[in-house]
Amino acid sequence: MKSYRKELWFNVPTRRAFINITPQINECLIESAIIEGLVLVNAMHITASVFINDDESGLHHDFEVWLERLAPHEPTKQYRHNVGEDNADAHLKRQIMGREVVVAITNGRLDLGPWEQIFYGEFDGRRKKRALVKIIGE
Ligand code: ZN
Repeated sequence: MKSYRKELWFNVPTRRAFINITPQINECLIESAIIEGLVLVNAMHITASVFINDDESGLHHDFEVWLERLAPHEPTKQYRHNVGEDNADAHLKRQIMGREVVVAITNGRLDLGPWEQIFYGEFDGRRKKRALVKIIGE
Protein backbone atom coordinates (compact mmCIF):
# COMPACT_ATOMS: atom_id res chain seq x y z
CA MET A 1 0.00 0.00 0.00
CA LYS A 2 1.20 3.50 -0.86
CA SER A 3 0.84 6.43 1.49
CA TYR A 4 1.07 10.19 0.88
CA ARG A 5 0.93 13.15 3.27
CA LYS A 6 0.87 16.89 2.62
CA GLU A 7 -0.04 20.03 4.55
CA LEU A 8 -1.89 22.81 2.70
CA TRP A 9 -1.22 26.25 4.22
CA PHE A 10 -3.62 29.18 4.24
CA ASN A 11 -3.39 32.79 5.37
CA VAL A 12 -6.88 34.14 4.83
CA PRO A 13 -6.90 37.98 5.06
CA THR A 14 -10.46 38.07 6.46
CA ARG A 15 -11.98 36.52 9.59
CA ARG A 16 -14.17 34.13 7.55
CA ALA A 17 -13.93 32.63 4.05
CA PHE A 18 -14.71 29.52 2.03
CA ILE A 19 -11.94 28.36 -0.32
CA ASN A 20 -12.42 25.69 -2.99
CA ILE A 21 -9.41 23.39 -2.51
CA THR A 22 -10.48 20.72 -5.02
CA PRO A 23 -7.70 21.74 -7.50
CA GLN A 24 -5.04 21.36 -4.76
CA ILE A 25 -6.42 17.96 -3.74
CA ASN A 26 -6.29 16.88 -7.40
CA GLU A 27 -2.62 17.97 -7.53
CA CYS A 28 -1.91 15.93 -4.37
CA LEU A 29 -3.60 12.94 -5.98
CA ILE A 30 -1.40 13.21 -9.09
CA GLU A 31 1.73 13.59 -6.91
CA SER A 32 0.74 10.53 -4.87
CA ALA A 33 0.41 8.34 -8.01
CA ILE A 34 -2.33 6.43 -6.17
CA ILE A 35 -5.00 5.02 -8.52
CA GLU A 36 -7.36 3.23 -6.11
CA GLY A 37 -7.79 4.29 -2.49
CA LEU A 38 -9.03 7.00 -0.17
CA VAL A 39 -8.13 10.60 0.49
CA LEU A 40 -8.71 12.22 3.87
CA VAL A 41 -8.64 16.02 4.12
CA ASN A 42 -8.94 17.60 7.57
CA ALA A 43 -8.52 21.04 9.07
CA MET A 44 -5.66 21.02 11.59
CA HIS A 45 -7.22 23.87 13.60
CA ILE A 46 -10.28 23.92 15.86
CA THR A 47 -11.61 27.11 14.28
CA ALA A 48 -11.59 25.91 10.63
CA SER A 49 -13.47 23.24 8.66
CA VAL A 50 -13.12 21.03 5.64
CA PHE A 51 -16.44 20.16 3.99
CA ILE A 52 -17.98 19.19 0.66
CA ASN A 53 -20.70 21.16 -1.05
CA ASP A 54 -21.56 23.22 -4.13
CA ASP A 55 -19.25 25.98 -5.43
CA GLU A 56 -22.09 28.50 -5.74
CA SER A 57 -21.77 32.04 -4.36
CA GLY A 58 -25.43 32.33 -3.28
CA LEU A 59 -25.06 29.17 -1.21
CA HIS A 60 -21.84 30.46 0.36
CA HIS A 61 -23.65 33.66 1.33
CA ASP A 62 -26.47 31.52 2.80
CA PHE A 63 -23.94 29.49 4.82
CA GLU A 64 -22.43 32.73 6.17
CA VAL A 65 -25.86 34.12 7.19
CA TRP A 66 -26.98 30.80 8.68
CA LEU A 67 -23.77 30.29 10.68
CA GLU A 68 -23.84 33.88 11.93
CA ARG A 69 -27.44 33.35 13.08
CA LEU A 70 -26.48 30.13 14.91
CA ALA A 71 -23.29 31.51 16.46
CA PRO A 72 -23.01 35.30 16.06
CA HIS A 73 -19.51 36.71 16.43
CA GLU A 74 -20.86 39.74 18.37
CA PRO A 75 -21.31 40.40 21.19
CA THR A 76 -18.14 38.49 21.97
CA LYS A 77 -18.74 38.53 25.73
CA GLN A 78 -21.84 36.32 25.36
CA TYR A 79 -19.43 33.33 25.27
CA ARG A 80 -17.61 31.86 28.27
CA HIS A 81 -14.73 30.80 25.99
CA ASN A 82 -13.95 34.43 25.19
CA VAL A 83 -11.63 35.14 28.07
CA GLY A 84 -8.54 36.70 26.48
CA GLU A 85 -9.77 35.77 23.00
CA ASP A 86 -12.77 36.41 20.78
CA ASN A 87 -13.16 33.27 18.68
CA ALA A 88 -15.81 31.20 20.52
CA ASP A 89 -18.15 31.61 17.54
CA ALA A 90 -15.43 30.20 15.25
CA HIS A 91 -15.19 27.02 17.37
CA LEU A 92 -18.98 26.59 17.13
CA LYS A 93 -19.05 27.26 13.37
CA ARG A 94 -16.26 24.74 12.84
CA GLN A 95 -18.17 22.13 14.82
CA ILE A 96 -21.27 22.36 12.65
CA MET A 97 -19.38 22.55 9.31
CA GLY A 98 -17.18 19.60 10.22
CA ARG A 99 -13.52 18.75 10.64
CA GLU A 100 -12.82 16.48 7.65
CA VAL A 101 -13.93 14.75 4.49
CA VAL A 102 -13.04 11.36 3.03
CA VAL A 103 -13.28 10.90 -0.75
CA ALA A 104 -12.89 7.69 -2.74
CA ILE A 105 -10.23 7.52 -5.44
CA THR A 106 -11.26 5.54 -8.50
CA ASN A 107 -9.16 5.18 -11.67
CA GLY A 108 -6.79 7.88 -10.39
CA ARG A 109 -9.54 10.48 -9.91
CA LEU A 110 -11.55 11.91 -7.02
CA ASP A 111 -14.81 9.99 -7.11
CA LEU A 112 -17.04 12.99 -6.31
CA GLY A 113 -20.71 13.46 -7.08
CA PRO A 114 -21.68 15.78 -9.96
CA TRP A 115 -21.64 19.08 -8.00
CA GLU A 116 -19.40 18.10 -5.09
CA GLN A 117 -16.39 20.32 -4.40
CA ILE A 118 -14.03 20.29 -1.41
CA PHE A 119 -13.79 23.48 0.68
CA TYR A 120 -11.59 24.85 3.41
CA GLY A 121 -13.85 26.89 5.72
CA GLU A 122 -12.07 29.59 7.70
CA PHE A 123 -13.82 31.05 10.75
CA ASP A 124 -10.95 32.81 12.50
CA GLY A 125 -8.48 33.85 9.81
CA ARG A 126 -5.82 36.55 9.45
CA ARG A 127 -3.10 34.08 10.46
CA LYS A 128 -1.32 31.03 9.04
CA LYS A 129 -3.34 27.81 9.33
CA ARG A 130 -3.29 24.47 7.57
CA ALA A 131 -5.17 21.40 6.42
CA LEU A 132 -3.83 17.86 6.20
CA VAL A 133 -4.13 15.71 3.09
CA LYS A 134 -3.56 11.98 3.61
CA ILE A 135 -3.93 9.55 0.74
CA ILE A 136 -3.68 5.78 1.04
CA GLY A 137 -4.12 3.09 -1.58
CA GLU A 138 -2.27 1.58 -4.47
ZN1 ZN B 1 -10.58 29.80 21.03
